[in-house]
Amino acid sequence: MTRLLFLLTLIIFLSACSQDNVLVKDGHSDYKIFVSDKADAPEKYAAGELQTYLYKISGCKLEIVHQAGEKDKIIYVGFKGVPSSVLEHLTPADFGNEEYIIRSDGKNLLIAGGETRGTLYGVIGYLSDHLGCRWYTKEVSKIPSESTIPLPRIEDRQKPAFEYRGMDWRESLDTAWVIHNRVNGMRVGDSLGGSYITYPFVHTFYKLVSPEKYFHSHPEYFSEVNGKRIGKDGQLCLTNPDVVKIAMATVFDWIRTHPEANVFSIDQNDGGGYCECKNCRALDEKEGSHAGTLLAFVNRIADTVAKVYPKIKLQTLAYDYTVVPPEHIRPADNVMIRLCHYDYCAAHPIARCSENKPFLHQLEEWKQIAKGRLTIWDYYTDFRNYLMPFPNFSSFSHDVKFYADNGVKGLFAEGDAEGGGEFAALRSWVIAQLMWRPDQDAQHLIDEYVNNVYGKAASYIAAYIKLLHDQVKPDTHLSIWAEPDEVNYLDQPIIHKADSLFALARKAADEDTALSARVDLAYLPVLWTKLYAFSQGGTAYINKEEWPAALSRFNYFINRYHITGLGADTRTYGSIEKFLEKVRVAAVTKFYTDWLVIGPFDNTDHKGHVKIYPPEHEFDSARTYAGVKGKKINWQAYHNNTTGYIDFNKIFGPSENVVAYARRIITLPEAETMKFGVGNNDGIRIWINGKLVFDQADAAIGPNQHFFTARLNKGGNTILIKVDQLGHGWGFYFAAMSH
Ligand SMILES: [Zn+2]
Ligand SMILES: [Zn+2]
Repeated sequence: MTRLLFLLTLIIFLSACSQDNVLVKDGHSDYKIFVSDKADAPEKYAAGELQTYLYKISGCKLEIVHQAGEKDKIIYVGFKGVPSSVLEHLTPADFGNEEYIIRSDGKNLLIAGGETRGTLYGVIGYLSDHLGCRWYTKEVSKIPSESTIPLPRIEDRQKPAFEYRGMDWRESLDTAWVIHNRVNGMRVGDSLGGSYITYPFVHTFYKLVSPEKYFHSHPEYFSEVNGKRIGKDGQLCLTNPDVVKIAMATVFDWIRTHPEANVFSIDQNDGGGYCECKNCRALDEKEGSHAGTLLAFVNRIADTVAKVYPKIKLQTLAYDYTVVPPEHIRPADNVMIRLCHYDYCAAHPIARCSENKPFLHQLEEWKQIAKGRLTIWDYYTDFRNYLMPFPNFSSFSHDVKFYADNGVKGLFAEGDAEGGGEFAALRSWVIAQLMWRPDQDAQHLIDEYVNNVYGKAASYIAAYIKLLHDQVKPDTHLSIWAEPDEVNYLDQPIIHKADSLFALARKAADEDTALSARVDLAYLPVLWTKLYAFSQGGTAYINKEEWPAALSRFNYFINRYHITGLGADTRTYGSIEKFLEKVRVAAVTKFYTDWLVIGPFDNTDHKGHVKIYPPEHEFDSARTYAGVKGKKINWQAYHNNTTGYIDFNKIFGPSENVVAYARRIITLPEAETMKFGVGNNDGIRIWINGKLVFDQADAAIGPNQHFFTARLNKGGNTILIKVDQLGHGWGFYFAAMSH
């Protein structure tokens, strides 16, 4: 039996013994809330919080006192000033800084914990676990209304499964929400219990040694890449003794000026560009990993820090080029490792998906190496498209517990920090509960959230969540960089079904404007998907008459929720402006989406791009040709109106080293010089009326990547397109501009 189960059993047993005692009866109470006048600010805040919520529940406002008589009925908040009879078998000094006890002996109630947040978290624990309070979102909480609050015997001692519990969904960056859900990774004032502060947060190399200050005079401090020192988008030369000295001075400066920090980050910049100089390379090779050179550097700083500040901890990343564990070197005792789970399948639980095998191996090794000082940075959204529906609930439902079972000490759940992401508030709440107690039933938490936050519309929202998650099959692996055309669940039947579920949800919400707004926000990913399809030349969801209304609705959400980006890089693919522009361009573009296609033909040694196959000199729709490996192939009709993409992988199946053709007629009432937009994956050749008019050997993925003009005749014009396949995606976009 687990300790927790034992405690729960004990609570139930004790509850059964004493049915009579009440904290509040019919709106009246004999109890007072005691908090010592010597209590620290978070404990006094905790007492006020308890008073506030007991009042909200029962309508009875208990007095807060700093002195208590022997015969008084008391709720003791915090350990200070509590009589020893109440503290029986408890040693306050044993309590960790977030650990607490809720104890009722049938008369008095004690809620107390370690400094600085233990007592406050105890009050939250009492209100939630014992009285049923919930704080689902910034706006939606559930506070029961009871004029009588029983006070059974209770012995409930808890501490969180993870010392560090962080996340960055903007929906959850609210002080009250953070406190009520006992997440400690976001900054909260010391008077409210403070938080677990990582300083600086991450990617700190250029903060340790500034390129602005040093690159000009000392380029050798920075990474050598392809024989050249770089002071931008690179790293540091970690084996340079002067770099160690400067970084060390910076760390000491941080420690002096940031006494609030729990841990100081010495970690690589985002991206590559590690140093390839002779010394760094030699150490990398000896350790079989760039993490070796990194750890040697961090350890040198850590050893000196330990002598001056024995309690201070440093932290570094195992990420990207440092994710492979080193062969020999081990982190010093005051160095924590933050392992990132970034390159994997987001659809399935870690331990149940073959795509996660390399990570499992790394986790196992880092666990041994870090010896109880391992934390995880995990990714719980689609970073390419924050607003894309992303059915990954089963992975985080499982993975948080999986990490706890593997001795992981902290977890950072990265979501979308730009606002508006799919079910961001649901993810925040469920993951926050699991971070505290990972053995909870995640599906139960999801259901509870949906029922309470979506109220009358809950059954439709639940059906929508199920609709998406039902598409996740054992072989449906999801990348955190997925595009809509790479996933299996965004096809027309699903989107139409989603539309009808949300129409019902909106109807059920009726005149409840707050609920309607929540339903609308949950619908935003579906609306985004439809607009995205339109921006790519599709007309299945939004046609040329409907787009202005759809775009204006989308813009309304962007403004209302202050959404600042649609993907991780807000300058490129995540730019809102660029997305809106694509929609506007698509509205005045005619994508040709119905073709006759034939393939695949051979493309060994990339010769298919120039090799002349029969479609280039004849057209006979009834004839059979010899394709790759002698396979018999014919012309076949293909039409895609979901997007403008003519996806050869979908038509011919995934293949390598092949080419295929597409052919259609464009009929014009008069001769005309037309401008065309092309996107190709990979190389493309285009003939109009038998004349080669466009030739591009390299892939240019997405609609309207290249433009060309051509003179077309009055009447029918033959368009012939050849696209070669060098790997991954295979297909093209072809559109007439300003049509
Ligand atoms: Zn170097
Ligand atoms: Zn998978």
